[in-house]
Amino acid sequence: MTSSFYHDLTTISLQDEIHSDTTYERILSDSKIELLPLLNAAYQIRKTYHNNTVQLHILNNAQNGNCPEDCFYCVQAKTATTDIDTYSLKPESEILAEAEKAYLSGAYRYCIVMSGRGPSSKRVRQMSNIIKTVKERFPIEVCLSVGLIDESSAHALKEAGLDRLNHNLNTSESHYPNICTTHTYQDRMDTLQAAQTAGLACCSGVIVGMGENADDLIRVAKELRQLEVDSIPVNFFLPIEGTQLSDIQLLEQNGSSELTPDYCLRVLCLFRFLNPRAEIRVAAGREHHLRGMEVMSLYPANSMFIDGYLNAEGTTASRTLQMIQDAGFTIETNGEIPDILQDQQTKQNSVLLKELPLLRPRMESNN
Ligand code: SF4
Repeated sequence: MTSSFYHDLTTISLQDEIHSDTTYERILSDSKIELLPLLNAAYQIRKTYHNNTVQLHILNNAQNGNCPEDCFYCVQAKTATTDIDTYSLKPESEILAEAEKAYLSGAYRYCIVMSGRGPSSKRVRQMSNIIKTVKERFPIEVCLSVGLIDESSAHALKEAGLDRLNHNLNTSESHYPNICTTHTYQDRMDTLQAAQTAGLACCSGVIVGMGENADDLIRVAKELRQLEVDSIPVNFFLPIEGTQLSDIQLLEQNGSSELTPDYCLRVLCLFRFLNPRAEIRVAAGREHHLRGMEVMSLYPANSMFIDGYLNAEGTTASRTLQMIQDAGFTIETNGEIPDILQDQQTKQNSVLLKELPLLRPRMESNN
């Protein structure tokens, strides 16, 4: 592929124009389009709108499990058989303590997530009070994920000081019935529109690897472009036994995953080309699917989670911070740089020396 191809990808995107779907399909699957120049083309756009900064998010799984919905990918769904710890809404004191911890860990945004189809008006009042207190106490952005909401709930949360509402579209409209039957894609669109009408910033993303094709990914990326969402978490499906989708995939594919590091990076580039200004987050599945290529995700993406996901563990915060700094990116904070980030700059791991069983394993086994 000539260098003008990659150059065009950048310039068309920076001019707020788009290429044909065929070009985007090729980005995902044509090996003639090489990964390094592709990443560089996406990086030029990321650098234009987000410099070399990375926003860190910490999730609080504030209410886990017992969900009446049947999202096929989710361990909290009524249909999932995964053995998880379930609990109803954590007490306010616990959510506040975790907000403080998120702030001290250098997180830019504290994401409170609750399982369920959507909140009652009582729950909206409770959450509004909690959000108000978090915003009074800590200089941290707050994002809330509470399922489906209407305009009046969105207004109440906005008034309480909520910065952002998360509600993922997850996949394209035509693929949606294959991943959930208890609510529709349109229900999700209605929630995003209610949030935008109330003046809330919107975070809405996808889960890649749920049996969708390239066209589904292109459509949902374009839908998010149309909605002008502020933030797009790109999750890579984590096959957890007991979820409907994972069990189907295990049967069909013998456990092997179609998500290679190369493909995941191409997907991130696709979302950057189609959503040049958005905060693009490399989200759940980062460690599992990108493996040794994890750091490369920072070229198209400008945001990530630290300290794991809703039910799945991730790498430790300190390892993620080190990776970001080693690659020459800087962490965006809400003011003062927290201690943990300053310590990180001076931290050196001590070198461990090999002992005899490792130096001469054969000698050891003969003894
Ligand atoms: S994704 Fe949300 S709505 Fe769907 S089953 Fe999980 S917790 Fe419930």
